[in-house]
Amino acid sequence: MAVAQWARPRVKPEHRGYRTVAGNIRIGSVIYGVGAEIEDPKGWLWTLVEAADGTRSSRDIVTAVLTRHDGLEPGDVTAALEQLASAGFLEDAAAPLPGQFSAREAERYSRGVPLLRWMDLGARASAWEAQLRLKEARVLVLGVGGTGGAAAWHLAASGVGRLHLLDDDRVELSNLNRQLLYGEADLGRPKAEAAVDRLAGLNPDVRVTGEIRRVATAGQLAAVLASSPPYDLFVLGADGPPQIRRWVNRACLAAGLPWVDGGYSGPLVTAGIHRPGTGACWECLHEQATQQADLGLPEGADEPAASAHLPWNPASAVTAGLSGALVAYGALALLTGVPPLEPGFRFGFNLMVPGDEVTLRLPRRPDCPACGSPG
Ligand SMILES: [Zn+2]
Repeated sequence: MAVAQWARPRVKPEHRGYRTVAGNIRIGSVIYGVGAEIEDPKGWLWTLVEAADGTRSSRDIVTAVLTRHDGLEPGDVTAALEQLASAGFLEDAAAPLPGQFSAREAERYSRGVPLLRWMDLGARASAWEAQLRLKEARVLVLGVGGTGGAAAWHLAASGVGRLHLLDDDRVELSNLNRQLLYGEADLGRPKAEAAVDRLAGLNPDVRVTGEIRRVATAGQLAAVLASSPPYDLFVLGADGPPQIRRWVNRACLAAGLPWVDGGYSGPLVTAGIHRPGTGACWECLHEQATQQADLGLPEGADEPAASAHLPWNPASAVTAGLSGALVAYGALALLTGVPPLEPGFRFGFNLMVPGDEVTLRLPRRPDCPACGSPG
């Protein structure tokens, strides 16, 4: 595996190991449920963990262990090193900054990359590889209001290299309680223009473009998704027309395009994470109306929303910002593989009951009209 080619393997600083009273090794983020507790009755694994400090080659790490412990074969130590790397606990301390990043970008992303490294459970030499995936990604955002605007803000700040924003609304005073891309000076401006200005000011190291464009039919949606070169991911921030999620699901299945949507139904804030071919599609999840009602999830297509009888959907800076952040979390995870997610689920929070996380994860339906096999 890769670790043998790494110049100077080390335990990630965020995954630093320690020994328990019983002599086991805890490594990774055990308290966050993503680490490991490893038995080490002879003590040589701890020597290995200590030797993997970024000052030695793989070969020198093996030598350091063999000189202190008898009865071991080099292959035993190498295999243990490989296992630690494949669990995501190691990186290559000598991995260079990818040449695609300027010194400015290195500074800009210097706090986010260690978090990627922390959350990455793959065998990657450097978390900058994940950051590079973001830089090379093209994402389409439909709707830059509360959810979509917050999601776009997170994606631009995180370094997604190309963002294209679609919206046909103008900024109104009643938007400003929650749509954080806009201010008083933007009142009356097209959101697609004001959002581009705001995000270009936030991060000139990414390219943000916008279009004043309405998506009112499934055909218009398919047209915006067709792009050359193709998009890597689609973010649905629009909450209408009522069938929009069903259209997006069908169009993204046809295009093989991963997508994320988010929204709120009063205090219930959720996001859905979807990748064609993996797990349940949006319709697989939402056709099961009983469970949807049980969870109070936002309406998608034909089912009435809890707020359908209200003149508008109640929303605050908190619900819009949180739903946008959840959407961005899903988008970044799908683009980078950090953290590793199994798409095909909806999750979120009920702000009336702190700690009450809701998750809708169901198996794919073989008879699903959208993603089921024909015949
Ligand atoms: Zn389906």
